[in-house]
Amino acid sequence: MNGTCTECAAGPENDRSDHCHGTLIRHEVLAFECTDPQCASPVEVRHRLVIDCVELGDCACTVRATEFRQAS
Ligand SMILES: [Zn+2]
Ligand SMILES: [Zn+2]
Ligand SMILES: [Zn+2]
Repeated sequence: MNGTCTECAAGPENDRSDHCHGTLIRHEVLAFECTDPQCASPVEVRHRLVIDCVELGDCACTVRATEFRQAS
């Protein structure tokens, strides 16, 4: 935590649940997930950091997506 989150600075403490400091992992096939185990809702709007799971390189999605492309 570096204390520079504008949303934390702007809102009272009970508004912090509106956003998340974790990184949202956007899966191609699976449900989205967040690196913060306390994350209330893994949706894009609540996260400033969003990455695609393909960037991680070792997700089941990438395997399935490759299979899907080869099949068509
Ligand atoms: Zn914040
Ligand atoms: Zn994935
Ligand atoms: Zn989160």
